[in-house]
Amino acid sequence: MPLPGSSTGGRHFLQIPGPTNVPDRVLRAMDHPTIDHRGPDFAALGKEVLEAVKAPFGTTQPVVIFPASGTGAWEAALVNTLSPGDRVLCFETGHFATLWQEMAGKLGLDVDFVPGDWRHGVPPEAVQERLTADTGHAIKAVMVVHNETSTGVTSRVGEVRKAIDAAGHPALLLVDTISSLGSIDYRHDEWGVDVTISGSQKGLMLPPGISFNAISEKALEASKTAKLPRSYWDWQPILGANVNGFWPYTPATNILYGLREALIMLEEEGLQNVYARHTRHAEATRAAVRGWGLEVLALDEREYSGSLTAILMPEGGADEVRKVILREYDMSLGAGLGKLTDKVFRIGHLGHFNDLTLAGTLAGVQMGLTRAGVKVDPDGIQAALERLQQP
Ligand code: PLP
Repeated sequence: MPLPGSSTGGRHFLQIPGPTNVPDRVLRAMDHPTIDHRGPDFAALGKEVLEAVKAPFGTTQPVVIFPASGTGAWEAALVNTLSPGDRVLCFETGHFATLWQEMAGKLGLDVDFVPGDWRHGVPPEAVQERLTADTGHAIKAVMVVHNETSTGVTSRVGEVRKAIDAAGHPALLLVDTISSLGSIDYRHDEWGVDVTISGSQKGLMLPPGISFNAISEKALEASKTAKLPRSYWDWQPILGANVNGFWPYTPATNILYGLREALIMLEEEGLQNVYARHTRHAEATRAAVRGWGLEVLALDEREYSGSLTAILMPEGGADEVRKVILREYDMSLGAGLGKLTDKVFRIGHLGHFNDLTLAGTLAGVQMGLTRAGVKVDPDGIQAALERLQQP
């Protein structure tokens, strides 16, 4: 039986690593009559968001917005740049890297999928080694998931770029930032990324429903000769219509109102401050995990994620902990995915989030662990609170 009042009243805690909590300001911005998506008011909105959205990508190049979830933007990145039978290099960093390479295989690409332990990011040295060995330049693209949402591991994209350059290889660099954009420092232009994929429902603090491709000059050039079949995802008609603030089909008008407001909020806080806030909350979370006597899944401190933390329960039981926490404290946490089912639970600390949201989240996790019968040090949360009292 739940304790009296433990999960009644108050607000649900949505602490999965996306979709994340949508700020009231964004909800209010979307609470707006739908307008003619071929009229002048829409054109003004379209032009404004297409320009403003470039900031979190760290780009001055075009960003295409699809009325689709992130999976659609994955597909768009592949079909716009590659041809049937092209070789692509990817690394088994976790569940999402696995799904993305499966998609590449289904689309008719020849996938070189390097096995991994789901506790590390993409190893830059392995990228350099494989590309150096590919003297005939058969590999056409390197696919990287920046922040593996299934593991809480962030790959070092800047170092992957350097590895590609050190190998002197012309492969395109395609990067998934679905759970890092607007939460973890990202630099599409500086890191020479060719297509950056993202989605609305995580660091951008929007509901699910739109996704993105930021596109380099080189990727745009590649799209002119790429032969994978594409229609809905084709960049060219979208870029053509975007010049006037429109789309070739019906855009997600009301989410774009939300996007405008969310981008204003990120700008007001300052992107560097947003990244620092996420790093700080991630540090406090790891302090609590270690204080409880539990283990963080990510093994390399250079790869700790700022947006989520996966907590390892090697003997299983993570699903029961989540179930108890939802029942007792009305808080949703992320489940272990794929190979990690029941072996980890994930705390999302991204998006619309502050110190007290984190303190409440960690208090709920500690109480839930205890209530589920997991032996944890009750002083664990104190380590997080001490971290939160520092800048
Ligand atoms: N890639 C990553 C890193 C993700 O976290 C997700 C979803 O959580 C996806 C891809 C798939 O995106 P969507 O569920 O929006 O299609």
